[in-house]
Amino acid sequence: MRVMAQIAMVMNLDKCIGCHTCSVTCKQTWTNRTGVEYAWFNNVETKPGVGYPRRYEDQEQWKGGWMLDKRGRLVLRSGGRIKRLLSLFSNPDLPSIEDYYEPVTYDYDNLVNAPAQKDIPVARPRSVLTGRPTAITWGANWEDGLGGAPENAGADPNLSGEWAQKVKFEFEQTFLFHLPRLCEHCLNPACVSACPSGAMYKRVEDGIVLVDQDRCRGWRMCVTACPYKKVYVNHATGKAEKCTFCFPRIEAGQPTVCSETCVGRLRYLGLLLYDADRVGEAAATPDEKDLLDAQRNVFLDPHDPEVAAAARESGIPEDWLDAARRSPVYALVSRYKVALPLHPEYRTLPMVWYVPPLSPVLDAVDAAGGNQDDPDHVFAAVTRLRIPLEYLAELFTAGDTDVVAGVLMKLTALRSYMRERTLGEDGDETALKAVGLTAREAQDLHRLLAVAKYNDRYVVPAAHKEDAAALTAMENRCPVETSGEPEPRKVMLGIPTLRRRTPEAPSGGHA
Ligand code: SF4
Ligand code: SF4
Repeated sequence: MRVMAQIAMVMNLDKCIGCHTCSVTCKQTWTNRTGVEYAWFNNVETKPGVGYPRRYEDQEQWKGGWMLDKRGRLVLRSGGRIKRLLSLFSNPDLPSIEDYYEPVTYDYDNLVNAPAQKDIPVARPRSVLTGRPTAITWGANWEDGLGGAPENAGADPNLSGEWAQKVKFEFEQTFLFHLPRLCEHCLNPACVSACPSGAMYKRVEDGIVLVDQDRCRGWRMCVTACPYKKVYVNHATGKAEKCTFCFPRIEAGQPTVCSETCVGRLRYLGLLLYDADRVGEAAATPDEKDLLDAQRNVFLDPHDPEVAAAARESGIPEDWLDAARRSPVYALVSRYKVALPLHPEYRTLPMVWYVPPLSPVLDAVDAAGGNQDDPDHVFAAVTRLRIPLEYLAELFTAGDTDVVAGVLMKLTALRSYMRERTLGEDGDETALKAVGLTAREAQDLHRLLAVAKYNDRYVVPAAHKEDAAALTAMENRCPVETSGEPEPRKVMLGIPTLRRRTPEAPSGGHA
């Protein structure tokens, strides 16, 4: 067992109101610069919808993530070294600016400086790329609130099965929710393995995936390889940039900007301990539907004395161990199992997980003529929710509807029980027992999901600068490549480049 620590995030989708505050504050912090106007390290997209960039989830087209070859070995979907070498100067699997959107500004000057005239002056849109007047025909969340959904949302790659026929975009029948996205800081990052220059790396101490700006040669293989399309090219510098998980804040024990400013208070940050020796095996799990369990099995119980001892041996400090025990992410992902990863079938083992949205369940009970106080009626309604289980399963469980139904039933039982308690009743524990929760656990989970305070939502231990020397030793102990060309066997196993944080090596998403 080789214990490592990773800072990870969970988002509770029931609470996202699609206000885009997270995106805007992230942009102000990281990409409010020439060359990355089109880039949203954090974006919020309406689902169903084609997302940003357009149809990024269609890996047949974009070739992102990992797949198993005929012998069951993990290989990059974008191809091996030779294919990547041959496409160095002409890579057909890159989104164009049309797939993102053409960033615009407005002729604000015209509003105050226009000469006296009969008509009121207007601020016309102008491309920030060309400086010329332009028409706005696409955006980073074009189907916001399902506007334009009848024309576009049907192209959502998640609407591919037979069941999708029942998804309608007529006003009375439709459903929507918001999906905030950022780099997943994957345990098995395809971007890192695809980089020919060794510029992309995963930090040993907290798992944050960064780009070394000095090493980046602008080959853009990372853009193709990332199935979430969360690496962007800065058109001014020609180098790759990406979400940094706000590492300077994380090192100071503070939450990321998107988390700090989230209006819905739906983001959680905390440590997960994992066994680095099991990452490659988990990512190569044969059946896609088993990937969720395989990834959960990589995570370690920080309360287990054996794990704690191994973590100490790996150089994880005592306050980090304590933070791992108090981690809201560990509670939601592993203890209560209500959070799910986005597209586990990409095999990157993503580390931003989601509590799926529970659309109005009591409405569904009413619509079926059921009794809201009868747990059987409430559970039955989960399969008739406005957001189809199949759709959520495409997003979070590689198509396994049973897992999604299980999570939604847990949330339903919790809601029903806490509703009774709030109304001054004892609370019927039958439904809780059916989903494997005790009354005490239900109250703990409810506190976490509904009323958790700042310090409960963000349990981020500060970095130990005095451990820099130990981290160097850890890097040297690490049986993976630390620079230059990825070594093929390790790439096949999906083990990423691991590197320590160094003050002297520029590391981050900005030039
Ligand atoms: S989500 Fe982030 S860490 Fe994962 S492959 Fe994409 S850029 Fe790399
Ligand atoms: S700030 Fe929070 S509530 Fe608003 S869009 Fe972002 S994640 Fe959703």
